[in-house]
Amino acid sequence: MSGNEPPSSREEDLGTYQMLWDCSYCGAQKLLARDHKHCPNCGGAQDPSWRYFPADEDKVKVEDHVYVGKDVICRACEAPNAANAAFCSACGAELDGSKQVRLRGEQAAAEGEAFGSDSAKAARAEAKAEKAAADAARRAAADAAHGAPPQQEKKGGMGGKIAGLGCVGLLLGAALCGGIFMFWKKDAQLEATSLSWAATIAVEEKQSVSESAWKDEVPAGADRVSCRPEKRSTKSVPDGETCKNVRKDQGDGTFKESKQCTPKTREEAVMADKCSYTVNKWVKTREAKATGDKAQKLSWPDPKLRRTGDCVGCERAGAKAELYTISWKEVGGKKAHSCEAPRAVWDKVKPGDKYAVPVGVVSGKLDCGKL
Ligand SMILES: [Zn+2]
Ligand SMILES: [Zn+2]
Repeated sequence: MSGNEPPSSREEDLGTYQMLWDCSYCGAQKLLARDHKHCPNCGGAQDPSWRYFPADEDKVKVEDHVYVGKDVICRACEAPNAANAAFCSACGAELDGSKQVRLRGEQAAAEGEAFGSDSAKAARAEAKAEKAAADAARRAAADAAHGAPPQQEKKGGMGGKIAGLGCVGLLLGAALCGGIFMFWKKDAQLEATSLSWAATIAVEEKQSVSESAWKDEVPAGADRVSCRPEKRSTKSVPDGETCKNVRKDQGDGTFKESKQCTPKTREEAVMADKCSYTVNKWVKTREAKATGDKAQKLSWPDPKLRRTGDCVGCERAGAKAELYTISWKEVGGKKAHSCEAPRAVWDKVKPGDKYAVPVGVVSGKLDCGKL
């Protein structure tokens, strides 16, 4: 089976390229973010927050790229420097403990489609939005720390817990109420009037029955079998893969492009033969019943089988059942009741006996299980 294992997700490296930046001093555009830490036109320092992804036609590949980490920003002059530099290449200041540049959000495009256009302006907008979100989160955290009532927090916290407990309580209550209605009983003062038994024997007849089943489930002895293919189930089968191209800013003036693919499957019908056939089967057709009262000994009815044997139309005795019934009337009243009782109870009770019989308050049913 190992040859049939579904292929797993995979990532294919499509190379490392230069991010671009625009010079804010002279307006020069599409400068290379890794190679040009300063504007080749006016010498202005690169602002790493202006880095953007190039359009496909402006891509400049970086061969044999060695990644040393995200650039760090000089605290003195804000110029970006390689992660492994000790001193600022622009002003000579020590870079120890400097902040790293922020990364641009990932770009993704469906396979065969172009990436969305990017620009220095989009880069600044993205940085601004990220900063605003971070500020808002910081303010909320500060508010929480200083005991200001952040309403939503409270609801999700204690309030939610209380609401949750309430719900659980309600559910328990409902279950309990349901339980009471099902099992709540009071006693009725009843006098036994008569006791009867019924003995039944099911009578089965062998019949030729038309049925259908999957070929591997057709019973032995089936006759006039005719099959045709039908959809029995579905199965997932591998169906190539879905791929997208992704660009990841590496923070050192380069980005990595890769193709990310996940396997795809499709549902395929599984066909099988469905067969219709006739088969001879024992089918319950009637019931033979004998009844009597307590004075008469229980006796089984004669099922009066028309024809015995194993032929179609032959009959046989099936399942047997005995049923014991006690009839009651209310003490001091006229209303009649009856219940089915276990044999032991039925044996014990005699006509004229008085009992406190449990009655379901809601169902109105007598419970003659334990008298
Ligand atoms: Zn410039
Ligand atoms: Zn510097």
